[in-house]
Amino acid sequence: MIENNSKRNVCVRGPDAFLKIKVTEPKPYAAGREGITAAMKHSFKEMGVVRAMATLLHMNQKEGFDCPSCAWPDPEKPSRIGEYCENGAKALADEATTSHIGAKFFEKHSVEELSLRTDYELNTLGRITEPLVLRAENVHYSPISWEEAFTLIADELHSLKSRNEAIFYTSGRSSNEAAFLYGLFARAFGTNNLPDCSNMCHESSGVALSETLGIGKGSVKLEDLYGAEVIIVAGQNPGTNHPRMLSALEKCKENGGSVISINPLEESGLVNFKNPQRFKGLLGSGEQITDLHLAVNINQDIPLLKLILKKLAALDKLEGNIFDHDFIQEYTAGVEPLLNDLDSYSEKELLELSGVSSEKVDAAVKLLAGKQKIIVCWAMGLTQHKNGVETIREYVNLLLLKGAIGKPFSGTCPVRGHSNVQGDRSVGIMHYVDKQFNERIETHMGFSPPNEEGVDVVGAMQSMYEGKAKVFMALGGNFLMAASDTDYTAEALQRCELTVQVSTKLNRSHLVTGKTALILPTYGRSEKEAKDGHRFVTVENSMGRVRRSKGVLKATSKHLKSEPELIASLADVYFKGKHAVDWKALGTDYSKIREMIDKVARGFKNTELRAKGVGYYLPNNVRELDFSKLPDGRAQITINRLPEHILEADEYMLMTIRSHDQFNTTIYGLDDRYRGVYNERRVLFMNPADMAEKGLEKLEVVHLSSTYDKKNRTAYNFKVLPYKIPKGNLAAYFPETNVLVPYNHYADRSQTPISKSIKVRVIKKVNRDSP
Ligand code: SF4
Repeated sequence: MIENNSKRNVCVRGPDAFLKIKVTEPKPYAAGREGITAAMKHSFKEMGVVRAMATLLHMNQKEGFDCPSCAWPDPEKPSRIGEYCENGAKALADEATTSHIGAKFFEKHSVEELSLRTDYELNTLGRITEPLVLRAENVHYSPISWEEAFTLIADELHSLKSRNEAIFYTSGRSSNEAAFLYGLFARAFGTNNLPDCSNMCHESSGVALSETLGIGKGSVKLEDLYGAEVIIVAGQNPGTNHPRMLSALEKCKENGGSVISINPLEESGLVNFKNPQRFKGLLGSGEQITDLHLAVNINQDIPLLKLILKKLAALDKLEGNIFDHDFIQEYTAGVEPLLNDLDSYSEKELLELSGVSSEKVDAAVKLLAGKQKIIVCWAMGLTQHKNGVETIREYVNLLLLKGAIGKPFSGTCPVRGHSNVQGDRSVGIMHYVDKQFNERIETHMGFSPPNEEGVDVVGAMQSMYEGKAKVFMALGGNFLMAASDTDYTAEALQRCELTVQVSTKLNRSHLVTGKTALILPTYGRSEKEAKDGHRFVTVENSMGRVRRSKGVLKATSKHLKSEPELIASLADVYFKGKHAVDWKALGTDYSKIREMIDKVARGFKNTELRAKGVGYYLPNNVRELDFSKLPDGRAQITINRLPEHILEADEYMLMTIRSHDQFNTTIYGLDDRYRGVYNERRVLFMNPADMAEKGLEKLEVVHLSSTYDKKNRTAYNFKVLPYKIPKGNLAAYFPETNVLVPYNHYADRSQTPISKSIKVRVIKKVNRDSP
């Protein structure tokens, strides 16, 4: 057993006491006037009226900055009155807040005391204004100069026996410039230990799409959604997580398209959307978005899809024109084995597994049968299961059989959660080895990067836990709360010699640390990256368009450093000014970084000029119907197993979800307005019949426990809410329920944690430790 290096007595999970909950009926629509009120309330509270209004007008505008929240694309012709949603406004208010904390605050409050506050309370404290160090055995952060901080990291890195003892994690908030430089530094240092937040979310999409279509990204552009005949929204809650997507769905509906939603929960945003930018949305009845909702059992999309495909295949046999046979013949491989495989299942078996009524399945088949312009959008509801990769491949099968790939108004649309998570990967944040990428580094940057595969998030946790990694550096994010198995992750971090967080605000990852810890404060997206405001960065949205982002606000403090600047300075100190790369020059002049990105990263070209305005699309082989890199030069139709869902008699399937007042691990508030839950996060959404069977009353307190590999994990204190969710299924908020997700259970081939299908028991509370 390895000693926990950090002897501090911190609370890893945060408090689990209840607040004063208020519950109403779920909202029958999303956005509307309440959306505007909520957005303004957050903005005015955090930023003041004048600053809020002036800054919001620059968000998602050609000459302004990119929304720091999700990765939904901006339209080519942005509206002048505002291209943002409630969540974008909350994200901006959160980073542009006028509340600040520095050395004095930390002198007064120890990490032990701070760890007793909730994640919501920590986030309300405000922006961190200066570099801080938590020295070994201390319980208070104290100020440190930038030079001293860089020397401390460099010394620790030099002291490692192996380069793989260091881990460089990236969150999806970083710009292309920062991410490229960070990846370059890790490689120059000598490791591919570059885990990133995408390992925990869309890695399954990347793997499934690469295997079937030859690129790990989606194929549609925003405008494709407007003209689609059918859009399937699967395992996704756009009303809360990608709100402006609802405007695109609204346009699709107005143009005569249909929307099918496939999700265990019927989310408000997909029922009806009251677009606050339109008269009908503000004062009228809004737009009904979903034509058909299939309340599939958690992680039973594969049986549902197989059933739909089976029925479409039967129709095709009769009519001959349901599938696109010319497309299948010219561009795909694997159709015959798939049709044979579909024959091997009984409709009854598939229907039962899916949990959907046969009428609804028939309605879906009817909607899809005569259509070719089909788009499938999805998010974590598909990716975070053991069979996440296979589920996505099954949706790709549907698109390929319908010829709905590589054509206008058709294709794949994995919707990314963090604003530049896709860009980070495009510029080199990856733990695996891309030989061509490495060769280009060698040619253009003058050093040889390592060719040994690094660790992803799961590997990073294991490495730290087992004492194989000693330094953990995070470019943004809140690793502790984002990763699965909170207690295990905490212990892993605490076993490090040094943990370094590049951050804007305080979170739990600053409190549960290695022996020594550093906080390096940086700019938010809305802030000017240089005093005269001439510097800009670039980002890539969910649909592969690269555009520039230029902050407009004065920096929170003069002691901040931009991410590229601080990475370059660290590299310069580490290499003592002697390295093939001129780090100093790159850290000052971002156009030089973009020049290097153009040379090294695939598809980037003349970014300095082309990223202006609405930016430019990176090449996408699917849009060109070019499958030459795949076996036989064809898109792959695949055979996917049914998920194994073996539950014990007293077990339920739990999915983790986010509340409306939340963005990833950041908790902006305590309400989940669309689901009718106010002032509480410790709730369990449960089918009323399941509650009755278990003898549970509304708001009764329970604990949740999961057992994997004979190890029990328990999350304490949840109030049960009767909710419209399929029987046997449960939902509760992330990250409170991360403690139940075993770190070593993840999606095959992508290693994405199984956060959306956790087998749990519901235990009535008798006393605090009743399980
Ligand atoms: S949809 Fe996403 S990117 Fe757009 S404004 Fe809302 S949160 Fe920001």
